[in-house]
Amino acid sequence: MYHSVRERRSQTWEYRHLTLEMPFFERQLQYFRRHGYSVVRLEDVVAFKRGDIDLPRRSVCLTFDDGYLDNWVYAFPLLAKHGYPSTLFVATDFVDPRPMLRPRRGDGRRDGELDEAYEVDGFMSWEELREVEAGGLVDVQSHTVTHTFLPASEDIVEFHHPGDDRPWPSWNARPDGKPFYMSDAAAGDSPCLGGPVYSVQPALATREVIERGGLTDHLIALVQSRGGSSFFGAPDWLDELIEATARYLNAHTVTYEREAEESYERRVRAELVDSKAKIETELGKTVRYLCWPNDGCDDVTHEMALEAGYEATTAKGSPNAHASADPTRIQRTGLHQVGSRRVVSSAFVHYALNAHAEVWPYAQVRRALAQTRILGHVKAVAYR
Ligand SMILES: [Zn+2]
Repeated sequence: MYHSVRERRSQTWEYRHLTLEMPFFERQLQYFRRHGYSVVRLEDVVAFKRGDIDLPRRSVCLTFDDGYLDNWVYAFPLLAKHGYPSTLFVATDFVDPRPMLRPRRGDGRRDGELDEAYEVDGFMSWEELREVEAGGLVDVQSHTVTHTFLPASEDIVEFHHPGDDRPWPSWNARPDGKPFYMSDAAAGDSPCLGGPVYSVQPALATREVIERGGLTDHLIALVQSRGGSSFFGAPDWLDELIEATARYLNAHTVTYEREAEESYERRVRAELVDSKAKIETELGKTVRYLCWPNDGCDDVTHEMALEAGYEATTAKGSPNAHASADPTRIQRTGLHQVGSRRVVSSAFVHYALNAHAEVWPYAQVRRALAQTRILGHVKAVAYR
């Protein structure tokens, strides 16, 4: 499982830990080649789990989440050179709506230019997705529509401010801005600065807790009236917002209401059905697989995805007790900023231990390792 792949990590992007820098990515691909791995398609993994086909003992399947523009610029041209297939899970809200094909490494017209010349902040457009699909190696599948978080309790964890690492209040307030949030965030441009940030859960894994009584609107209006982002230049901005919150709660009734079960289910179903339909329309293909954003899923939502027409969904992260035998669940492991032989192979060990968590002898090995520090080390490496 990969996310962003680019020459160097961004200094400002709140999710920069998701970036695998190119030298590491190249070394990982070389590792697969040198050690005789077959890079197989996701449909082959699912067919293998169903018992329909055999796969070489050393097989690896590459998936990318989110549809970052840097995949278009760096990762896919390199994978094409190797002839390696991969699956790309896109959340439809984040696809860049502008009709364009941007320059990518290897296009020729950029030869001799520095890597800094490439635009990498943002997400792929539908045209770019069509282009990689047409190449026959990239299989675009669903990562739902919104890929967001929603308030799951009435606990305020902070107030939305420039440079915080919680982009979802602005995603939820202004979905149209989602494809451009990486550069907007750097500029501190959010429509909800000053609003309370509640404790959240992945959108598909929680019934939303909805605030009634105007506290959020009040705080946002207060910050707007005091200059928007420049309000946060004052050293005591946090005290001011805490005091304003207390004053408001004294004078007004603020209540919290949990989303009804039926409306939660309707919302989940819409994310499953609408993302599938949108990708199918834009790319002229059948969408068969779903990746849950931030592992926000359970057995009920998994069943809903199968009802919506998906053949398989990504299993919850590690450890994943019951993914191994079920062909409708896709087990994955993260390969982040690691490149050495030892570290890549320990990621495979970690994957095997979790993919077969209840199967002999892995279950016994897991239990034994849990008593030592080894598994913790492997985990830290694979999920850094
Ligand atoms: Zn994601």
